[in-house]
Amino acid sequence: MYDYLVVGAGLFGSVFARQASQKGKSCLVIDKRNHIGGNVYTKNIEGINVHAYGAHIFHTNDEEVWKFMNSFARFNRYTNSPIAVYGDEIYNLPFNMNTFSKLWNIKTPSEAKAIIEKQRLDAGITDPVNLEEQAISLVGTDVYKKLIEGYTTKQWGKPPRELPAFIIKRLPVRYTYDNNYFNDDYQGIPIGGYTKIFEKLLEDCEVRLNTDFYDNREELSSYAHQIIFTGTIDRYFDYCFGKLEYRSLRFETEILNIENYQGNAVVNYTCADVPYTRIIEHKHFEFGTQPHTVITREYSADFSQNGDPYYPINDDKNNELYNRYKVLAANEKNVIFGGRLGMYRYLDMHVVIREALDLASKIIQ
Ligand code: FAD
Ligand code: UDP
Repeated sequence: MYDYLVVGAGLFGSVFARQASQKGKSCLVIDKRNHIGGNVYTKNIEGINVHAYGAHIFHTNDEEVWKFMNSFARFNRYTNSPIAVYGDEIYNLPFNMNTFSKLWNIKTPSEAKAIIEKQRLDAGITDPVNLEEQAISLVGTDVYKKLIEGYTTKQWGKPPRELPAFIIKRLPVRYTYDNNYFNDDYQGIPIGGYTKIFEKLLEDCEVRLNTDFYDNREELSSYAHQIIFTGTIDRYFDYCFGKLEYRSLRFETEILNIENYQGNAVVNYTCADVPYTRIIEHKHFEFGTQPHTVITREYSADFSQNGDPYYPINDDKNNELYNRYKVLAANEKNVIFGGRLGMYRYLDMHVVIREALDLASKIIQ
């Protein structure tokens, strides 16, 4: 018997398992994939740490979480500053004075504010109710048309008018010349990749890969006093209220015999007619100097056609459905649901770590 069966060797499961094993508890950690780390997994390809499930930049304001992560790896000074390509034009992200001055040939914050305010008034938006209206009221129609509309439609498979406003509020809007994508106090990439962190988190646990909970549900459940479940919550309950919707992704990775392909780790393609959303050049996360490079094109994809679940679609319909599953989850004896899939929330890494640390200190004696 184990104290805990942890379903999913991603960030939530691994942080929880580490805290449990530190307190002398035994954990069996399973994952249906052939590696640990969940979506944060990095794979070394020809000396370059490739972010296998899309660019992962660690950022947080939570000092305890930052110290926790730094106890497993050294973090470099990487600051995320993506470039947006729209046709043959390029712009800095997030939306800031560099973006505005290039777009409108202006210099000062008051000029930018005046243009954005005029475009908001012209669009007649007072109380934004969807992503399109929220975006126009934050940055105006020009930025919306060039940098948001096409990208968002590709990313979510729906026009921005049909999407909740909160998605775009994740991005900072700044009236300073500052291309830092995040506002947090701490930011960086673990030198040597993320997977090493997971190896350390899980070093005192038994880990079984290529093991799907559903292939052997009853037997696996009987091995432990309590289950920490980080897979999709709707499947756990046999979709009894219906399926939660997700957005999926597809990645195409290529090794190129050139030193520097795009000069930046993340380049977003914001036109609707470019099929991918972004290209990641992995070496730039760690300031690599290899003679070759590895790039990944990221495509957004429909989840219903056998895709992996990446982004929960937190609109009203899905949130209501999730709340019904949450009631079942609260009554499920000896099972706790966590992480991006178990909680059906769009969570960054630092939030997942905080949730896992809090859960561990609450339930582990
Ligand atoms: P996951 O990483 O999804 O782990 C869940 C694990 O459970 C998976 O390994 C899965 O295989 C396993 N599992 C599921 N079902 C079963 C089953 N039935 N049996 C066995 N195993 C199962 N966050 C940031 O802070 N910064 C970023 O820059 C950032 N970029 C991102 C980019 C992309 C493209 C995506 C998709 C996410 C990004 N995130 C980022 C968020 C980050 O990926 C998550 O916060 C983190 O992965 C959540 O960890 P988790 O353990 O909840 O989920
Ligand atoms: N977004 C956009 N243009 C961009 C980058 C982002 O319109 O160049 C919008 C898009 O709707 C996206 C949201 O902002 O879903 C949040 O972007 P973020 O980069 O945080 O998304 P993630 O990295 O989590 O996919």
